[in-house]
Amino acid sequence: MNRPTLRFAPSPNGRLHLGHAYSALLNARIARTLGGRLLLRIEDIDLGRVRPEFVAGILADLDWLGLRFPEPIRRQSEHFPDYAAARDRLAARDLIYPCFCSRGQIAAEIATREARGAPIPRDPDGTPLYPGTCRLRSADEARARRERGEPHTWRLDMPAALRALSEPPTIRRFSPDDGAMETVAANPGRWGDAVIVRRDVPTSYHLSVVCDDAVQGITHVVRGQDLEAATDLHALLQCLLGLPAPAYHHHALIRAADGEKLAKSRGSESLADLRARGVTAEDVWAGLGFAILR
Ligand code: GLU
Repeated sequence: MNRPTLRFAPSPNGRLHLGHAYSALLNARIARTLGGRLLLRIEDIDLGRVRPEFVAGILADLDWLGLRFPEPIRRQSEHFPDYAAARDRLAARDLIYPCFCSRGQIAAEIATREARGAPIPRDPDGTPLYPGTCRLRSADEARARRERGEPHTWRLDMPAALRALSEPPTIRRFSPDDGAMETVAANPGRWGDAVIVRRDVPTSYHLSVVCDDAVQGITHVVRGQDLEAATDLHALLQCLLGLPAPAYHHHALIRAADGEKLAKSRGSESLADLRARGVTAEDVWAGLGFAILR
């Protein structure tokens, strides 16, 4: 059995808030209970939004909270060739296809279908599923357009991906209270032809996360319930790429007083704001229901 290995994997698109602190402290507590280790991973593939000061801020905030992580800290932006190799493996098996549609074209296609009274299925986030326009293009047309340098994403060919599996994907869930495991069916089909490779970088959140969890030997993923539905897609990618699958626990989210998710864009106080007004790390630990681990 591999040593229990967990990860806290923030995206440096802003400063950490109490929701991140809760997730990081819960990861630390579970790692400790399991006699394992907690790694830090910086998920910085969104080059348009990532800023070096946010990375520095995350490191400072976690240090302030009293969390220490083994070096080296993995930064996804340093591993684009690895993700591109995974993309190429999926493409070689025709499990993904290039999609040249702009957001506007997709919205227009969906509006046309809606006007005809066609059903508009939606993914678990409520976004209408991609109507599959580019899945129907010939390989020759797709190649010619790529060779002309037309911007494109790569989408899962969901029907082909599901056909490629010998058995339906499953997810192992564990309870942090007693370690109990249960295996549940995953339902990746509800994501439709999801984007697996973005336009600007040779990966996506979904592709990077399954590659990295495998490369880093992650045995237990502890993250917020907002990512629970995405695990279906991760289970599918793990099967298609032959990657080991960690066990998962999706924790309840820390919410603002109005019940909304915490987010910088909604004006949630960051850990740095709390620190600046005299809140201590011990206050944060206690406020989130954690006994000090030290
Ligand atoms: N980077 C993601 C976030 O900050 C978390 C990814 C994960 O834990 O799988 O929301």
